[in-house]
Amino acid sequence: MSTNLISQAAKELTRRLDQLARITDVRGETTRTFMSPAMGRANALVGAWMHAADLDVREDAVGNVIGRLRSKRPAARTFVFGSHLDTVKNAGRFDGALGVLLPIAAVEVIRRQGIELPFSVEVVGFSEEEGVRFSSAYLGSKGYTGRLTASDFKLEDPAGRTVAQVLAEHNGREVAPPRAAHAKKDLIGYLEVHIEQGPVLEAKGLSAGVVSAISGQTRARVGFTGHAGHAGTTPMALRKDALAGAAEFILAVEALAKARSPLVATVGWITAHPGATNVIPGSVELSLDVRHPRNEERRAAFEALEETAKAIAKRRSLGFSVKATQDNGAVSCSGSLTELLERSVRACQGSSLALPSGAGHDAVIVSSLTPVAMLFVRCRKGLSHHPDEYVQPRDLEMALAIVVDFLTRMAYQPAS
Ligand SMILES: [Zn+2]
Repeated sequence: MSTNLISQAAKELTRRLDQLARITDVRGETTRTFMSPAMGRANALVGAWMHAADLDVREDAVGNVIGRLRSKRPAARTFVFGSHLDTVKNAGRFDGALGVLLPIAAVEVIRRQGIELPFSVEVVGFSEEEGVRFSSAYLGSKGYTGRLTASDFKLEDPAGRTVAQVLAEHNGREVAPPRAAHAKKDLIGYLEVHIEQGPVLEAKGLSAGVVSAISGQTRARVGFTGHAGHAGTTPMALRKDALAGAAEFILAVEALAKARSPLVATVGWITAHPGATNVIPGSVELSLDVRHPRNEERRAAFEALEETAKAIAKRRSLGFSVKATQDNGAVSCSGSLTELLERSVRACQGSSLALPSGAGHDAVIVSSLTPVAMLFVRCRKGLSHHPDEYVQPRDLEMALAIVVDFLTRMAYQPAS
């Protein structure tokens, strides 16, 4: 019975996730960064599991480990699964690793069921997503999709070594930014399985949900300037308190986001000058992070917040400045792949839930090459980037059953 096969494979998946988590650059933690010794060992281990699942295994020039199940059909296109094998410092067991090891398990189940897929399957363990070593994310998926540039190669790690140097050492020769692993026409699509890193699935009592879109982000620095003055001798009516203005703005940010769900907006840090107990704050700088799955809504919200800040500054006779530091567009998931995935989720779980991803993922980069879909898996308290990151075994089993069902549906009713 396939349910037996799936529950056995899910147990093995748990064991593998534990084993992979012990591969680390820092003893007692799970820490793996781009091209580190632990990444080499992780690729070897994951490559061995891919091999055991009858995948042909290779590693590309940027350290992505790639397993391929070649269809016997001539000119068959390829469906890609993937996520990242690097981690943040002192990470958990599931972020990234789940999206590599679960598809390997799914392919094993499909093979044991004797299902012949009419397309090839590729499972990719991306070498870099978290941006830890070079303060720049997605080096692995950018390499796979042919999006690495000469300026990416000049990025330096804290030891002053460049991406180009690290890659030359790894490959035993100088390497140029690689071309895409596949032509667009040869690909069907991409599915990334990832922990939710948020509390929505837990709140709804569901093991898994389907990502509708990956939110775009606007980040900015906002400044208010007033007049520093004596806290004891300046009457309240004559003050230009930059921090009081900023406080009003922060509450306005919260109120706007609450009124425009699924908008999320955050002020993450604030500095007040001169920063003394007995001095009225003369100037303040703060960060603003605005995210929404739709670009128009995100831009409109950002503009509304800019207007609000201006109005607060005017009313309080403060100076005001805003400088956008980042503007990343939203990525929408493929309608046909998402629909198929929702069918699998409903078939296995009874009901499905669509939710936006507030965090970026490899799927953002891969979407430049082929249509993408994402499956989110419940994690305890939404916690991630932490050793206590946890996915219940029954949720792993559910996610595996969904991906097996998805592959089976693709085999019999391929997405156009
Ligand atoms: Zn991740």
